[in-house]
Amino acid sequence: MTSHSTTLARPRAAKKPAVPKPRTSLYSARTLLLGSENAFRIGPQIKALEDQGLKVVKCNLGEPDFPLAPYIAEEVKRQIDLGLTHYCDPQGILPLREAIARTVAERRGIAVSAERVVVFPGGKPPIGLTQQVYCDPGDEVVYPSPGFPIYESFTTYVGARPRPLHLREESGFSLSGRELAPLLSGRTRVIILNFPSNPTGGVVSREQLEGIAEVIRRKAPAQARVYSDEIYEDILFDGNRHLSIASIPGMAERTIIVSGVSKSYAWTGGRVGWAVFPTPEEATVFKNLNINYFSCIPAYNQMGARIALESPQSRGAIARMCESFRERRDVMVEGLNAISGIRCLKPGGAFYLFPNIAGMCERLGAIEAHRGLAPADRARTSPSTLVQMFLLWRYQVATMDRRSFGRIGSEGLHYLRISIATGLDDLRTGLVRLRAAAADRDGFKAFMAEGRHLW
Ligand code: PMP
Repeated sequence: MTSHSTTLARPRAAKKPAVPKPRTSLYSARTLLLGSENAFRIGPQIKALEDQGLKVVKCNLGEPDFPLAPYIAEEVKRQIDLGLTHYCDPQGILPLREAIARTVAERRGIAVSAERVVVFPGGKPPIGLTQQVYCDPGDEVVYPSPGFPIYESFTTYVGARPRPLHLREESGFSLSGRELAPLLSGRTRVIILNFPSNPTGGVVSREQLEGIAEVIRRKAPAQARVYSDEIYEDILFDGNRHLSIASIPGMAERTIIVSGVSKSYAWTGGRVGWAVFPTPEEATVFKNLNINYFSCIPAYNQMGARIALESPQSRGAIARMCESFRERRDVMVEGLNAISGIRCLKPGGAFYLFPNIAGMCERLGAIEAHRGLAPADRARTSPSTLVQMFLLWRYQVATMDRRSFGRIGSEGLHYLRISIATGLDDLRTGLVRLRAAAADRDGFKAFMAEGRHLW
């Protein structure tokens, strides 16, 4: 026998598949990729200051400071008394879905049926669920930066590739098709838009939306979905009207429209939000996710949301709230622009200001202080984060830094988000404190030496 035939006659032992070594860390790799919303994370620090008897001006949270309107509250109580306290339709109760379909359709001039509507516990959950449904690892998500932090947080969590779309102050933090085009590719699966915007208050014109739609139709694959986060649709100033990309011909078929009761009705604790999907089939996929995650949303709150959408009283209530926000915006924009080192645009919607504080960072020595940090600490923070911490600990004004609204590519950008969803008296106190802080170079230096600048 030749050695050759011997080799053939004796089959080689099959190679055992490599068994991965057991993981030693407690948490999955995915868990470590999840970001957060710092507006909530800063809560314990604020509480620590309040426990010392200090008054904190809270410009951190995006939560209207108005009470829930009595006609909505009464409906919720009435439904509890009627016994609407059991499990209900995981897609959302039909009377609410019908009200949503009617309202969304009327406002945007498009056809919407209740079977395409899914109700969620707020406007936030559909963000991550959308990324889970449409993205495999390696697929791409385009999202605004600065933008709501959950967009970037979930993109990395699901293993998708983040493609931040940087909104520029020079363009009023708005966006054109020209800026979007280079970010789209055959791997794009979700394109997130958010007008009026958190954190900048930026709005968009019909011409801009048409340009964005044209680029999406031309460059994005047919399966790519536009996630249009319209949660601030009612908070608009100066005669601005809400515009949705779904109203542009050919876009409703690929757009997920998202909104809810948190902002329009000052009802953040109601936890009722919704999405309108391009097809009933897609809505069914999300209904099944609801079944898997939380079964359903309290039916009495959903009935309250229905009244919010349908009551003739709502229009006046929203208009009064917007008028308060407008007044606060005008006072704050003027006050901020009067502080040396701060430059603030006048937002067209939402209830946030997003001042450029590059000059203030320079004045305080924050850029230099950041440069002087140990590399690991430097990577965890930024000059505007140091200013945010300084304002909180030394001046008791809670704001949010630029990094809290998308980290990728935020280096060298010095902004703060100031929520004006807090009373005018408090905001005026905040302005006085900010003015004093902006000139307090010695205080900043001493603060850096105390070691409370990281979080
Ligand atoms: N999207 C944006 C842009 C937001 O600013 C917020 C709330 N800050 C949400 C979604 C989530 O809203 P909700 O409280 O209804 O979950």
